[in-house]
Amino acid sequence: MADLPPDESAFNESPPFAGLNLFTSDRALRDAVARGGASWAVADLKTFGDVAGSETAVDLRRRANAQPPRLRNFDALGRRVDRVDYDPAYHELMAISVAQGLHCSTWEHLLRGGAARPGAHVARAAGSYMATQMEPGHCCPITMTHASVAALRYAPALAKDWLPGILSRRYDPAAAEAKNAVTLGMGMTERQGGTDVRANTTRAEPFGDGVYRVTGQKWFLSAPMSDAFLVLAQSTGGLSCFLVSRLTENGELNGLRLIRLKDKLGNRSNASAEVEFENAQGLLVGEEGRGIPTIIDMVTLTRLDCAVSSAGLMRQALARAIHHARYRSVSQRLLIDQPVMARVLAEMALDVEAATVLAFRLARAFDGGEREDEAAYRRLMTPVTKYWVCKIAANLVYEAMECMGGNGYVEEGGFPLLYREVPVNAIWEGSGNVMCLDVLRVLEREPETLRLVLDDIAAIGGAEPRIKAMLDQIETLRNEVMRDPGMSRMFVEQLALAQAAALLLAHAPRAVSDAFIPMRLAGPARSTYGAGVARFDARAIVDRAGPDR
Ligand SMILES: Cc1cc2nc3c(=O)[nH]c(=O)nc-3n(C[C@H](O)[C@H](O)[C@H](O)COP(=O)(O)OP(=O)(O)OC[C@H]3O[C@@H](n4cnc5c(N)ncnc54)[C@H](O)[C@@H]3O)c2cc1C
Repeated sequence: MADLPPDESAFNESPPFAGLNLFTSDRALRDAVARGGASWAVADLKTFGDVAGSETAVDLRRRANAQPPRLRNFDALGRRVDRVDYDPAYHELMAISVAQGLHCSTWEHLLRGGAARPGAHVARAAGSYMATQMEPGHCCPITMTHASVAALRYAPALAKDWLPGILSRRYDPAAAEAKNAVTLGMGMTERQGGTDVRANTTRAEPFGDGVYRVTGQKWFLSAPMSDAFLVLAQSTGGLSCFLVSRLTENGELNGLRLIRLKDKLGNRSNASAEVEFENAQGLLVGEEGRGIPTIIDMVTLTRLDCAVSSAGLMRQALARAIHHARYRSVSQRLLIDQPVMARVLAEMALDVEAATVLAFRLARAFDGGEREDEAAYRRLMTPVTKYWVCKIAANLVYEAMECMGGNGYVEEGGFPLLYREVPVNAIWEGSGNVMCLDVLRVLEREPETLRLVLDDIAAIGGAEPRIKAMLDQIETLRNEVMRDPGMSRMFVEQLALAQAAALLLAHAPRAVSDAFIPMRLAGPARSTYGAGVARFDARAIVDRAGPDR
């Protein structure tokens, strides 16, 4: 059937939000890259920004989510195959992000035998921030593959076998055992509890020569077509970490049964399975009984990605809302010029920029290597940043959707996908309360970290009286919150806000910090966007947010 001609009678509609370079159109992102020592990556990020914001990417996102993955347990002859079929669009998205190196770029020095490139985490974070805007679901296996290397370093012989495949930039969707590029997943969560992995019941029995037989269930195992999984299981020495490949060396299923795929709220292009292991061959990673310390560095990296991804999703929602408000008139006045709308957009822009500076400051800490202050920053501020950035995202995306009016609620426009996706980053890899309890653990076990982080914040923001007052308050609260963990969300939020304010003061235009500080640090609590009492230059803030064409 021939395409219908465009409807010439339509007017007062915003042009489609596609064909926008996600890097060059985003000033806060460009600034974060320059500040994080990753200017060497700018040309590459510009190219990726073009791809990620293209009309082709919009179409891939639509297709990959319209046809969610399907589980196929048996072949035509009734033999078990336990595989998941994806729409080809999903594989195309994977190929784009893998070619960009988002699954491996910070580790490439391991093959070269040299030192990590300064700014490597910041450059990758910028790519991830755009990839999640392109399509968020496929970022799950990308994140897990990247993070898996942190755990594999505890098993040098295994790492030697798997690193070449992980570091390949040529995505290979084949299910076969011999392939150029591999992806890895993780299996921690069981039915009886995800947070409390010590209660895991999956068992690993030694079978000789460092090989174990893994038997048990996992309630969530995302990207189940990954080539291998880092799995927690109980062995004689206690909870331990194992590498379980999906196939054996002969290309047969390695005792991994896919029971069901989750019917999820969002994240639909990505499969998450309930699985059973039956005598699956597992290879020990790290020491027996030290499963949590072995896998924790992997988990920490995934938490960084959750924060980066939530900031990216917020950015996408805000940019679309501003774009719409620039073209849509109501009562002969553009929405962007209507005082209430300008105020709503500006307040959202403040939170998006705050989330962005926090996420990229955290990425910078991962580039800090062994430096004591940067290690302390990673330890304390990973849960703080994940908590705050992921938690504010859902409300912001909802408000941005409302800025679009009725079109925001309609599937075709893309906002429902963003809205369904956004809560997941707060839930997985450690939910909100778990992040707060992790902060308390740091205060208890590594008390010096708080001092180092507060000094870091004071160095850039301590001269501002309201930031200084909040830092003093955090110090005072420290003992109280350790006595009463029920106050930990307040403590974590204050730490996030103080750091965001200091970063904005140091690095964002005055209009942004002049509004953020009184509204988020000093003003009365507000529960909806646009309802803050402080006066500020809404137009300057919205102009800063762009999106620049
Ligand atoms: C789409 C999706 C994909 C996933 N993929 C994977 C995967 O690939 N691999 C994997 O291992 N897991 C995966 N998960 C699981 C996820 O990491 C867990 O769901 C998450 O860690 C929470 O664990 P839980 O569901 O058992 O909840 P619980 O641990 O039961 O927690 C329930 C609630 O209680 C809170 N809570 C927990 N402890 C405390 C406490 N002491 N005090 C106060 N509050 C507390 C939590 O914050 C949470 O809000 C996935 C989850 C989702 C939604």
